[in-house]
Amino acid sequence: MLKKAKVLIVDDDPLNRLVLEKTLRQDYDVFCVESGEKALTFLKTQPVDLLILDIVMPGIDGYEVLAQIKENTTTNMLPVIFISANTSHDDEAKGLELGAMDYITKPFSAAIVRARVRNQLMIKQKNDLLEMLASIDGLTEIPNRRYLDENLSREWRRSRRDHTPLSVLLMDVDHFKRYNDCYGHRAGDDCLKKIAHALVGSCERGSDFVARYGGEEFAAVLPSTPAKEAVAFANKLRNAVNKLSIPHKASLNSEYVTISIGIATTESGQVYAEQTLLEEADLGLYQAKEAGRDQVVSRLVSATLQE
Ligand code: GH3
Ligand code: MG
Ligand code: MG
Repeated sequence: MLKKAKVLIVDDDPLNRLVLEKTLRQDYDVFCVESGEKALTFLKTQPVDLLILDIVMPGIDGYEVLAQIKENTTTNMLPVIFISANTSHDDEAKGLELGAMDYITKPFSAAIVRARVRNQLMIKQKNDLLEMLASIDGLTEIPNRRYLDENLSREWRRSRRDHTPLSVLLMDVDHFKRYNDCYGHRAGDDCLKKIAHALVGSCERGSDFVARYGGEEFAAVLPSTPAKEAVAFANKLRNAVNKLSIPHKASLNSEYVTISIGIATTESGQVYAEQTLLEEADLGLYQAKEAGRDQVVSRLVSATLQE
């Protein structure tokens, strides 16, 4: 059974809240708040799938709530249905132009509210699915570079804001061209799938994130992880690939498939540009290759920039 969708009702009129809640509670998890301020606070702590928003309320009105929702990257995709006693076309047009998905006028019919809510939730479900598919790598079925870039961007901002450490790993399969040449491209694909699953399977913390970066390269984002811990984690990943014991008789550094890893860490959020972490991790990776492959090289970003 699918999880029930979450609907937040925002209306200053207690009777409206009650009737709307009664109309929807059989099919959805329904939450109610009585002001725009409370709605914005609610959304910060608990994501919902749909918002039913009154326009005229004391304090922040519905238009302003919608504007703030649209400005925030974590809520800007949230569908909003306005519900209002303003029946003029101008009001309806303003609401839709601001980005509301639908507009219901009061007094409302329960059947129409139910149908419109269902329609919006169906659209949201499809959009969520598309969003998910666009973030997954087709071959390995782990997150792709697009997803990684979004995740890194978010964690980079968090690290700067909270002054928490952040580590980024870039991993590259050693002598993989030789692997393809020796065993064929199909075997190469299978090898990448096994590596991807070994890497993802090694993540214990929910916040650790591994993605296919492209070709035979993978990347990881480790929030709140100082350099020492990142090195330990990277060695765990390297060992996980070693343990797969995938024969690689054409490799110049081992009998088995191995990976090299470059790490970049900022320990106090003082990275100047978001891309710096990736560039520094790439430099570390290059050094790991130069030093003989199947190893980890870590670089502290703030120290590097002060050199
Ligand atoms: P190094 O140890 O220096 O990284 O050597 P390498 O041979 O791994 O590096 P190089 O960049 O020369 O070659 C990467 C190879 O990875 C070449 C490319 O065909 C292969 N590759 C990239 N993506 C895929 C893929 O999706 N499937 C397969 N089978 N091979 C891939
Ligand atoms: Mg490569
Ligand atoms: Mg390689």
